[in-house]
Amino acid sequence: MAHEVTFIPGDGTGPELAEATRRVLEATGVEFSWDRQEAGVDEYEAHGNPLPDATLDSIRRTKVAIKGPTTTPVGSGFRSVNVALRKALDLYSCQRPCKAYPGVRTRFPETDIVIVRENTEDLYAGIEFERGSEDNAKLRAFLAGLGSEIREDAGISIKPISVFGSERIVESAFAYAKANGRHKVTAAHKANIMKFSDGLFLDVARQVAERHPEIEFEDRIIDNLCNQLVSRPEEYDVIVLPNLYGDIVSDLGAGMIGGLGMAPGGNLGDDVAVFEATHGSAPKYKGLNRVNPMALMLSGMMLLRHLGERDAGDRLERAIAAVIKSGDRVTYDMKPTREDPTAVGTSDVADAVIEELGAAA
Ligand code: NAD
Repeated sequence: MAHEVTFIPGDGTGPELAEATRRVLEATGVEFSWDRQEAGVDEYEAHGNPLPDATLDSIRRTKVAIKGPTTTPVGSGFRSVNVALRKALDLYSCQRPCKAYPGVRTRFPETDIVIVRENTEDLYAGIEFERGSEDNAKLRAFLAGLGSEIREDAGISIKPISVFGSERIVESAFAYAKANGRHKVTAAHKANIMKFSDGLFLDVARQVAERHPEIEFEDRIIDNLCNQLVSRPEEYDVIVLPNLYGDIVSDLGAGMIGGLGMAPGGNLGDDVAVFEATHGSAPKYKGLNRVNPMALMLSGMMLLRHLGERDAGDRLERAIAAVIKSGDRVTYDMKPTREDPTAVGTSDVADAVIEELGAAA
């Protein structure tokens, strides 16, 4: 039976990338019934809402979506579609595999890590008090009463990390490890300094780890983790982090595997998943058939595995890896220089991957 999946092209370069991805997913032989839905700046300009209810309803019904990137115009007053999606569907676990396929331009060819980032708490919870505001003054007065002085000219952001949030993100990291044949989970934190937020995260991580003795567990202080990732990447496997560190380490990971054009991802809740590349809508390349579709294609590979189509996911990964290795039919970002005249376009990469899938069949 065909898998029903919500298909969101997005905006900017999103539609080109989504189309290339749809084609390679169908070329695996797996049957899909796509429920096409809109989101992003074009939808906002056409109908006044960047994330229509129909799109959310579709994802709630199908439980799974693949999404092209969407633009968040600076200073427009419209909230990020991605943040809104994560909130509306409680997509608390952001999973980003960072694997350096042979042939990519990287100084870290041994990299094969998976970053699991908490998506709902931490300094990104949006609890902020503007310098000079009344609420800021009330909060400072309250804290002064507790013996904690904050300068009058300070802005304040609050960092909540809960047992509930920590437990479910660390559980999701172990679940990922088990489902994908991974052997170790590393929890990253700054518990030595932030004892009651990161310290709590670490305590909970240790308790969760005890429930999964078949998977090795260790922890690292976040600064040390960054140092070790670029000196000994082969020692890391699944890494689970609170929101802010997870955001930063995701980009570090993308840089270690050849850039944003190679970095896939998925945002997962308890029963809903939205797969999308780590990168944004790269609007300056819109309509030029230039950007690299591999990050979204690899997000499609994650989608296949999520749907239980493991064999198709493995075949798609091998086909993408073969195209990367040959190095001929890849986009500008994967060539030795950005002006390389042999770089091909987005749709040509899809053709190459489809040929590889056919050759392997
Ligand atoms: P971006 O990731 O869109 O692009 C930054 C640069 O990275 C591009 O100019 C390009 O040089 C390169 N790049 C990105 N994707 C590439 C690809 N597939 N192939 C080759 N090169 C690629 O980041 P930005 O310019 O900061 O953001 C643009 C818009 O995207 C913003 O509105 C931002 O809010 C939004 N955004 C959306 C998502 C999402 O939808 N998940 C994620 C991040 C940013």
